[in-house]
Amino acid sequence: MQEEGSMKNAKKKAFIIGAGPAGLTAGMELLKAGNFAVTVIEKERVVGGLARTTEYKNCRYDIGPHHFITESEKVLAWWNEIMAGDFHQHKRYTRIYYKKHFFHYPLEPMNVVRGLSIMECVKSVLSYVWIRIFPIKEVRSFQDWVTNKFGRRLFSIFFKTYTEKVWGIECNKISADWSAQRIKGFSLSKAIFYAFFGGWFKKNKPRTINDVFYYPSRGAGTLWERAAEKIMQNDNAMLHLNTGVVSLEHDGKKIVAVSTAQQGSEQGARQITRHEADYFFSTMPLRSLILSLTPAAPAHVIKAAQSLCYRGLITVNLIIQKTHVCPDHWLYIHEKDVRMGRIGNMNNFSPLMVDDAGKHTALSLEYFTFVDEPFWFKSDYELVELGKKELEKIGLVKAAAVVDGMVMRTPEAYPVYDEHYKEYLSVVLNYLATFPNLQLMGRNGLHRYNNMDIAMLSAMASVDKVLEQERQRPAAKTPSAESVFLT
Ligand SMILES: Cc1cc2nc3c(=O)[nH]c(=O)nc-3n(C[C@H](O)[C@H](O)[C@H](O)COP(=O)(O)OP(=O)(O)OC[C@H]3O[C@@H](n4cnc5c(N)ncnc54)[C@H](O)[C@@H]3O)c2cc1C
Repeated sequence: MQEEGSMKNAKKKAFIIGAGPAGLTAGMELLKAGNFAVTVIEKERVVGGLARTTEYKNCRYDIGPHHFITESEKVLAWWNEIMAGDFHQHKRYTRIYYKKHFFHYPLEPMNVVRGLSIMECVKSVLSYVWIRIFPIKEVRSFQDWVTNKFGRRLFSIFFKTYTEKVWGIECNKISADWSAQRIKGFSLSKAIFYAFFGGWFKKNKPRTINDVFYYPSRGAGTLWERAAEKIMQNDNAMLHLNTGVVSLEHDGKKIVAVSTAQQGSEQGARQITRHEADYFFSTMPLRSLILSLTPAAPAHVIKAAQSLCYRGLITVNLIIQKTHVCPDHWLYIHEKDVRMGRIGNMNNFSPLMVDDAGKHTALSLEYFTFVDEPFWFKSDYELVELGKKELEKIGLVKAAAVVDGMVMRTPEAYPVYDEHYKEYLSVVLNYLATFPNLQLMGRNGLHRYNNMDIAMLSAMASVDKVLEQERQRPAAKTPSAESVFLT
């Protein structure tokens, strides 16, 4: 075993798993508090997690364009401070492709009527009136919830197909919680409802209808890169990339240490580093966290963790030899016979997303899939070809105009809210609550389908909790320095 150098003036050691928005926020907040030595571990070669930006042949792609919106002044101030002026406001422009028609979002009534036919619109309104009079009494699933809100007709025309495309499960098997927490992506139905019942609906205007957002000039990920730089400039902080957590050691009452290994070092001897700390903050998926515990968690907890489900995402990122493809930031693809779910036009987020924006457009096509489906295993070539074919099919871009492409796979892009997830989640959370020095935060860290700002707020709340614990407890013995060994 070798000793690793300790950090300056450390009073308490904090260990953070994941350099995504939540992990980096926790790191910065702990360092601001001034009383902590912070170690951040990230398994990827870059920071930013799901909100990172990847450059390919002078084009920049997010994992699905990440717009910055928040109702929290604290978060907005945080973003502005980090971006120092390079944070620009945009007016959202989104359309939905359905039945060979591009619907504006929020909907314009005449555009809806032209796209859907007057008869279909009338039937939708009648079906809405009907469900308001005779609502489903026991709301169990997403299907029940949406039907009660919008009527059977709108549900079956606009919600069912798109939702099942995104989630890969039937709408009557998706928990009602998800719709109640945040109906995301179901733009057409919301928009139609908005168009018909705008006055009534204004009070309940959903967040995704917010039409202004912020975006850095060279991609969402640049904000997280800057946050990471700030952390690394601090003498009391370390950030290790390409390093994954392999186990969390506990004594039944608290987490004692975390062991990490360099990614891609599975074969042969691999270097394991053991990090002791006073506090541990985790943004890694709950399922992997439970499976990493040493000694192992009780069997029923492992079973519950293994039942938590994730939806994977493949983004097919294409370079188009064309200056102007469409005015949209996003295009939602509700059409059944097209596999992709959404298209992001990176040029419209910032002209600096593409070096030669005068010649090329960067499009990001989103395909939702489970990681055990054959679709996940398609080759990059097949996926790029599929993307080209589908762009041509919806009439957006001729396949021949696609000059290059790159594929990214994200296995745990969405924590799935299936019909039983709540039971499993509560078993997992109740067990992990027995370790008071472990803070869970972020999206997969809490198994909550949320945006960057909410992930950040959960990190800030975790730091506050630890600061409160510190205030109530006199200083204890600081754990020894990190140790490194080979297996
Ligand atoms: C397609 C898509 C579009 C989105 N669009 C938006 C948007 O427009 N606006 C918005 O605000 N939000 C958006 N989001 C949500 C946003 O990405 C998340 O809310 C945010 O990234 C969550 O931050 P996090 O730190 O909790 O998790 P993550 O971003 O997932 O970061 C967790 C980090 O932990 C690392 N990690 C995991 N396991 C380990 C391990 N064992 N060891 C070490 N490191 C580990 C991961 O590599 C990752 O870097 C979108 C998400 C997706 C998938």
